[in-house]
Amino acid sequence: MKKAVIDTRGLTKEYVMGTNVVRALRGVDITIAEGEFVAIMGPSGSGKSTFMNLIGCLDRPSGGEYFLDGNEVSRMGDNDLAAVRNRFIGFVFQTFNLLPRTTALKNVELPLLYAGVKDRSERASKALERVGLGQRMDHKPNELSGGQQQRVAIARAIVTDPVLILGDEPTGNLDTRTSYEIMALFQELNAQGKTVILVTHEEDIARHCQRIIRFRDGRVVKDEVVESPTNAASVLASLPPPEVA
Ligand code: ADP
Repeated sequence: MKKAVIDTRGLTKEYVMGTNVVRALRGVDITIAEGEFVAIMGPSGSGKSTFMNLIGCLDRPSGGEYFLDGNEVSRMGDNDLAAVRNRFIGFVFQTFNLLPRTTALKNVELPLLYAGVKDRSERASKALERVGLGQRMDHKPNELSGGQQQRVAIARAIVTDPVLILGDEPTGNLDTRTSYEIMALFQELNAQGKTVILVTHEEDIARHCQRIIRFRDGRVVKDEVVESPTNAASVLASLPPPEVA
């Protein structure tokens, strides 16, 4: 049995709005083992973002327990939570969230700066090479395509060697071909042992993962194994070559 990277027990989250209480999560028990590749799905308002914010240590639950790589993080204070977040988690967002006037290399160095690491430039270069951007390190985000910007963001997410990569709709702003390229990269990282969890509302994106967890009304309503996940690299090989503008 592989060790659990994520283990939640009876996780709840309530938002109080005046006299109104929104029960965003109503008791979620999820275990995700090291090396899994999981999609989180569900209709709008089902609790996906709330769940991701909790497992990403961006917020604290109202009740229940959450163990991240064996550490009880549900009741940590803000500083400890931030430290855990930097050490254990790499984030990838729909809108890339890169610093605009900063080179790819410097963007990727940033988490290392926060972590007080010394050989930043060397490690950031390696991460950029790993995502296929070894030739673009000195480019700023506006000199890169959307897919390349997302690669920079993925390099930034992996540069600290986190136990977990969390993606919030990482292909939401990309065209079909580029989405497959990004999914191929996630699959490659997962094959190398990284645990990856993505929120997506696109079924065909979710089918690249090994497991799909579906939320509805703040609860898990389905947790399924994907029998033969789509291989993004094979799909790419079967697509016509990209049009050159
Ligand atoms: P999803 O990501 O699946 O769309 P959310 O986690 O964003 O779902 O939302 C779950 C429920 O919690 C919704 O009813 C939403 O309106 C509510 N909610 C989310 N964030 C907040 C907040 N900061 N304050 C109040 N209610 C919130």
